[in-house]
Amino acid sequence: LPVVAIVGRPNVGKSTLFNRLVGKKLALVDDRPGVTRDRREGDAHLLGVDFKVIDTAGFEDEDPQSLPGRMRAQTEAAVREADVALFLIDARAGLVPLDEEIGRWLRAEDTPVVLAVNKAEGRAGEQGAIEAMALGFGEPILLSAEHGEGVADLFTALLPYIDRPDDEPEVDVDEEEEARSGPLKLAIVGRPNAGKSTLVNRILGEDRMITGPEAGITRDSIAIDMDWQGRPVRLIDTAGMRKRANVTDKLEKLSVADARRAVDFAEVVVLLLDATRGLEAQDLKIADAVLQEGRALIIALNKWDVAENASSLFNGVRAALEEGLAQVKGLPVLTVSAVTGKGIDTLIKVAFETREAWSRRVPTGELNRWFEAAMERNPPPAPGGKRIKPRYLTQVKTRPPSFVLFGTRVDLLPESYRRYLVNGIRRDLGFGAVPVRLTVRAPKN
Ligand code: GDP
Repeated sequence: LPVVAIVGRPNVGKSTLFNRLVGKKLALVDDRPGVTRDRREGDAHLLGVDFKVIDTAGFEDEDPQSLPGRMRAQTEAAVREADVALFLIDARAGLVPLDEEIGRWLRAEDTPVVLAVNKAEGRAGEQGAIEAMALGFGEPILLSAEHGEGVADLFTALLPYIDRPDDEPEVDVDEEEEARSGPLKLAIVGRPNAGKSTLVNRILGEDRMITGPEAGITRDSIAIDMDWQGRPVRLIDTAGMRKRANVTDKLEKLSVADARRAVDFAEVVVLLLDATRGLEAQDLKIADAVLQEGRALIIALNKWDVAENASSLFNGVRAALEEGLAQVKGLPVLTVSAVTGKGIDTLIKVAFETREAWSRRVPTGELNRWFEAAMERNPPPAPGGKRIKPRYLTQVKTRPPSFVLFGTRVDLLPESYRRYLVNGIRRDLGFGAVPVRLTVRAPKN
């Protein structure tokens, strides 16, 4: 089950909330600070979603003014194990230094944080919410754990972390890390005669080209493991992916099919263009196929050694890409010569960097600080007078980076606004030109 850890200084109402969520009087509640002792865990069931709740109140020590070592260590362990930390503040007491201290170390953790202001009945709530904004976790949820108010809002905020869409498998961070440090899986695709074989040969060094399927790992692909300046690279040779005998008049079509197959094996795909021909419609189809599959794409202009009018050629390709592939602005465009070897170092270096961006995970705090600012700069529209209230943005996976936007009526957000967010995420949060996916989820009330 997904795990929610309730975190906060003593007496903010963690145990009351725990009881409310778990529905049983498992934790002993008392007005005196630090009255609960043991770690409490229970299963909660809210609006069809099951999750586990950990009440960290049990870790509290006698002194409510500090965060003693034992409590902190235990709480940290609970937070690390959790899918989301529910950080509780007391509206009536306002923000105290200990809240700020807890906020500081929560920010240093990787676990996403949902901030809630408890005891928020009446006026106290507003004041508490304003103060809590200073913690930098975005707008807090207003709660009264004792009176059961705000639980629906709380649920809405927790949902992205506790209810993964079926098609988004649970993220295994270790696996991600491993994939990142493993060999760079690189495919070179492009139209016939762009120079793919020549480039592969050049990268491999002389005479190492493997041309028949017999040398391949599977029937359909030829993967060549090699080292590039000490870093492992697995080169996916698309030219070897089909029997050369079949290649006749269908060549142009085949290059798109090649690209489709290559992406099954590749992390980063290089679309090789023949600089003497520029960008043609078929190239855009290949590029589109690669991006549709969520792979990172690099454009390389080959035969640069014989290119004429280099700068106008380069700019022309750039402009055609911007126009033809509106979904991804600013794709890296590099120039190479497979024959002389010029530009290949840079190409592979950029491929590694691109994989890094493609595998990047943005901490939720950073993401939502960006998100608040982005909404302030350009508030969401209100189609037909209906207010759309986006609340949280969360990254559900990497490779490709995929985000879920959560909030009231976000399903009504026009395409232009989604694109505004996607482009901003790319530009501001270190994704460069890798394809970024955004889905929206509006809670059903
Ligand atoms: P593929 O069909 O994409 O694998 O293309 P090839 O690698 O077979 O290359 C097609 C033609 O372009 C061959 O005649 C190559 O010698 C030539 N070629 C490939 N790369 C370069 C380059 O960087 N500069 C020049 N001048 N010719 C190249």
